[in-house]
Amino acid sequence: MATRLVHAPKVTSDPYGAVSPPLYQTATFEQVSAVECGRYDYSRSGNPTRTQLEAHIAHLEGAARSFAFGSGMAALSAVLRLVRNGEHVVAGDDIYGGTSRLLTRVAPDLGISVTNVSTTETEPLRQAIIPGKTKLVMLESPTNPRMQICDIAALTAIAHEAGALVVVDNSILAPTFQQPLVLGADIVMTSATKFIAGHSDVTGGLLSVRDPELAERVYFYQNAEGSGLGPFDCWLAMRGLKTMALRMERQAASAALIARWLQAHPLVRKVNYPGLPSHPGHAVHAAQSSSGGSLLSFETGSIEASRTVAEQAQLFKITVSFGSVSSLISLPCYMSHASIPAALRVQRGLPDDLVRISVGIEDPADLLADLDQAMRKAMDAIGMTAAVPGFQLDGFTGSQRERQLLDRIAQLEAQLQPT
Ligand SMILES: *Cc1c(COP(=O)(O)O)cnc(C)c1O
Repeated sequence: MATRLVHAPKVTSDPYGAVSPPLYQTATFEQVSAVECGRYDYSRSGNPTRTQLEAHIAHLEGAARSFAFGSGMAALSAVLRLVRNGEHVVAGDDIYGGTSRLLTRVAPDLGISVTNVSTTETEPLRQAIIPGKTKLVMLESPTNPRMQICDIAALTAIAHEAGALVVVDNSILAPTFQQPLVLGADIVMTSATKFIAGHSDVTGGLLSVRDPELAERVYFYQNAEGSGLGPFDCWLAMRGLKTMALRMERQAASAALIARWLQAHPLVRKVNYPGLPSHPGHAVHAAQSSSGGSLLSFETGSIEASRTVAEQAQLFKITVSFGSVSSLISLPCYMSHASIPAALRVQRGLPDDLVRISVGIEDPADLLADLDQAMRKAMDAIGMTAAVPGFQLDGFTGSQRERQLLDRIAQLEAQLQPT
């Protein structure tokens, strides 16, 4: 994968052999005559820079074709177009806030009914399918923000038996760590805003489609509704792809350390990170993907403590989104998932004190030291006293620093009393 991310298939001709793909920042293309249309005529319908990105993504996902949209939500809206008036969609019950909004506020206007089910087991999906009516199953694994794991191959088999298409939102792992088409899904969506562009400077969404005929239908909507990604954003996404493996591996390695440390921390009640062996979906996750990724969430049991951690962290910026080179922190119930009504959040077990962290590419020791000082302030804020080994690593360098880091984590873990 690391190699394929750097070496894109060549699909557009370039007389000068540019190593960085040319940027065709144009809306229209001059035609050879008044009665013949060349390969490109108008950038809504097609643009060579977009073609290059789409071909590269198809190569990574094992898709017949891939399509780049103006955002992840534009991509998911195109998927919803594959469902007709009177038909039915089944989706997970811990899904991205924007997807939840699309399904609760847009789908009904199109005459499409939706059922949300827990996807950590297979039975709820089986029960929710309406024979002859259910045409689409939408899955996320891990889910966002509770990081639940679903068995993509098993759920896909159930959906296929009923003649429904399966789309997997793979924004959290991207093709670097998980390839849902290989697991049997029909369509994979990845928000390019996250790890693919990777620098918080682009919004974009990608659909990769296994079947060529289904791909033709997706292309029809991309063109008809004008939702394709602009050339410059395609170019930035391609630049992001080249370093995606490096970035994501570093981010995931740091996230694994942070998850271990949080799990041992007295202020933390629960850590949701599929890379931890204690995660209930760990085995399924390990079988279908190659990393725990760099997104995790945790509960403190106190909204005030969670808020203090988020506000006192200096390197972790308070923002929605994830997958950037810089570390981010958020309280999903007040930010990315605020569009889910409070009662529904309670029903779905989405607690208000949940803190979500997206780990960036900074030095993991600095990230841990920053979280450590923010957690101390949060403990002070709620009057909690507990001994936690300090994280100042000044004076240590290189491998010494790494060893110190692991020692401090192990020290905290050793304090954990079996309950
Ligand atoms: C961000 C995100 C989306 C939407 O992508 P945008 O590019 O923001 O429109 C969809 N699903 C998940 C899991 C996401 O994280």
